[in-house]
Parts: sequence; structure tokens; C-alpha cells
Amino acid sequence: MQRLLLVGLLWLGLGWAQYENRLLVGFQESQAIYPGGGTVAYGPAKFIAEALGLGYLEASGRVYLSQGSRVAAFGISSQGADAVRFLNAYRYQGSLWVPVRELARNLDLYYRNDYGAPVLALRPARLLEVQRAVAGSSERYILRFDRDVQVRIIANNPPRLAMIGVREVPEAPPNSAISFSREDWGTEIYLPQGNDPPRLLFLPRQVVVERGSLNRLPRVVLDAGHGGADTGVVVGGLREKDLTLSVSRRLQALLQGRLEVVLTRNADRAVPLLARAQYASSAQVFISLHAAAGNRVTVYSHPEVQTLRLLEKGRELSARTPTNQRAVLERYVAAPGSAARFAQGVSEGFATAGIVANTSQDAMYVLSMAGGAAILVEVGFEQLRTPQGREQVAEVLARAVLAYLGLPEAAPPRTAAPPPNPSPAGGVRP
Ligand SMILES: [Zn+2]
Repeated sequence: MQRLLLVGLLWLGLGWAQYENRLLVGFQESQAIYPGGGTVAYGPAKFIAEALGLGYLEASGRVYLSQGSRVAAFGISSQGADAVRFLNAYRYQGSLWVPVRELARNLDLYYRNDYGAPVLALRPARLLEVQRAVAGSSERYILRFDRDVQVRIIANNPPRLAMIGVREVPEAPPNSAISFSREDWGTEIYLPQGNDPPRLLFLPRQVVVERGSLNRLPRVVLDAGHGGADTGVVVGGLREKDLTLSVSRRLQALLQGRLEVVLTRNADRAVPLLARAQYASSAQVFISLHAAAGNRVTVYSHPEVQTLRLLEKGRELSARTPTNQRAVLERYVAAPGSAARFAQGVSEGFATAGIVANTSQDAMYVLSMAGGAAILVEVGFEQLRTPQGREQVAEVLARAVLAYLGLPEAAPPRTAAPPPNPSPAGGVRP
């Protein structure tokens, strides 16, 4: 935390920034370089992360910086010209340099070019409210901000958290066990004593401080595409929104009891993209279901970006988790490449069932917000035309989810066929 002392805001009244190659990061000064002799300013990634209290991770040939739920991911180039062309990070003199303007854009940081010297700082943030929610044996404090904020745990019990760059907080209610302390880098918040150490979840403009039993089931979120006025694709009188809901319910029935299964919608209604994405951020596995003309299946995954939050959370937790609980914990920690691995497992499952499947790594909004392994599956209408076909798709997906989470496959409960269109017994295998 000592590094955070130097975090700050710096764009008022400083007239000494006109030197070429100088980079101002918060209250600190560093160096900007211009790879390939170009005009794109690069700054040292680690230095910037430390000066501004950002999350930092190097994994699988990429470097990630994060602020709250925002993540900036850069591929790494060792040639200056390549780095600039792709706006990649640049490996130079043993450290990684990132394009500062691009970084600011991704993380919503303050950026200014002051006579050739880039200036990078946190924008001031405001804590709007603190909400407490209790669900079963776990307790959550939801911190809502007016922008994305990086939060760090300073002490476990009672929890003390650093809200970096937070300049304004609401009045603490009388007799509340919650209190604040202003620091030059932001604000500390003190939460009431509890039995367990806190864990952090980063959502858009929210940070959830969660504590309580870790011995719950891994969460799978099933996202039936479209709904309400948005019918999706219509082929031969079949509507995409109905087919995706039907498969989601079947899949839910197959996984229920072994996993915590959450549906983004359980009826014919519209669900905003942001709401879908927020569901995604709390899941170990997120499956968004869509249908398309034809008979193919395409499995989309987002390359790696979504794993950062869980990695951060996992690292924080691992250090103080007893060995016997680590196995549980590890289900919450998506390793780099997990989405791609899960997508591969799903495609193989379809291939085994005789359905042509391919994978794609196009970035998609709903996936880029996901916390665990997230995929979008687009199934050909030909596979979804009959209840048997829909059941088969659900079974392939259920097996892939269990395999991905390392859970043994069990005989699906045939008596618990889900509504609507229960499939005739025994009619589901090819
Ligand atoms: Zn669709």
C-alpha cells in the first residue's frame, strides 16, 4: 500500500511539464519514449500501474492493466514499428512500455499532452453509496461509484479497503459501523468485523466486497440470447429467442444441483446487454446461447481478457487459504486461456455428437466483461428444430461444463425434463 501514497491528481497549476520525453503519472515523473521514431508516446507499464494503483498482470504473452472492471490488454512487440502499428506494448531495455493515450482511453484515465509531455492521472471518483446484502451464508457490501475504481484490501478483519482516487464519499449513517478516512491517494473505508476475510469482485462502477462460505457450488450463468421484442433470427416460423430459452432451461435442468445455475432470463423478456454482462462477471462459466441459419455450431470465446479479475482475486485469496480449501478456490480462478480451453471442449463435444463445430475468438461485448470462462455458442437452426435436437445440444453443453470444472459426469436425471416441450424418453441420442 505504501506505493499508493504517491497516487494523485495533477493537472492544475503545474507549469513545468514542457520537456520533451517527460511523462507525468499522478504526482510522479517518468520517461516517455516514441518507438520506431513515431509520434505515439509510450510509458513504462509497471511504473504507471504502481503510480496510479492499477492492477497489473503479465500472462500468456500479454500485459494487462486494470482499473475496477476496466481492463486494458496489450500484445507485446519487440520491434518499435510493430508496437506502434498494432498499438501493442513494446519490450525495450528489459521493461514493457505501453501507449499511454490508448491506456488512458481503455481505463478512463485523465490524459493530456502538455507541450509534448504526456500527462496521465486518475480522474477523481465519488463513492455514491454502500449497500449491504445477505444471501445464505455470504455477506456482501456493494460499493457504487460514479466511475470504475480500483480497490485494494489493506486489512482483513475488520476489513479496511483502499479506494484509490476516491475523493468524495457519502455521509456515513448514524450508528453505522462503516467509516471513512481521507488519504492523499484516495479514501479508506472501514467495514464491520466479520468471520471471514473479504474477497473483491469488480463490476462496472461497482466493487463488491464479499465474505462468507467459499463452500458453495461453482456458478454457471446461462444467457438465452434475445427475448421480448427482440426475436432474433426467425427461420421457418421458429424464433431464435424461443429456441435459446428452451435450450437454456434444458441445460439448467441437467446441471441443477451439481452447480449453481443462473439464467439471465427465464421468460420471454428483454434483457439489456449490460445486465447480461453483469451476470457474466460473477460466473465461473458463462454461456451465451444464440441460433443461426444452417446446421453448424460456432463457439466464440474472448481471448483471455476476462480472466484477469479472477486471477487477481485468486492470487489474493491463495496466500491465506488452507490447503484443504484450495481445490474449492481454484474453481474460482480462471487460468489464462480458460475460455479458449472451454470453447475447445464444447466444440469437441459437438463434433463427438456428429455436429460440425468451429471456434472463433472474435471479441464480443458480453464476453469481454465475463469473470470466468465465457463462450458464445451459435447453434444452427437445423439442430434446434426438434425437442430431441435441443436436448442433444443441452447435453453436449452440460458435459462440456462439467468436464471444464473437473466434475464427474453423472447420468442426467431423465425424470426432470424441463419445460417447455419435454422430450420423449429415450429419444435424445443420435
Ligand atoms: Zn442471436
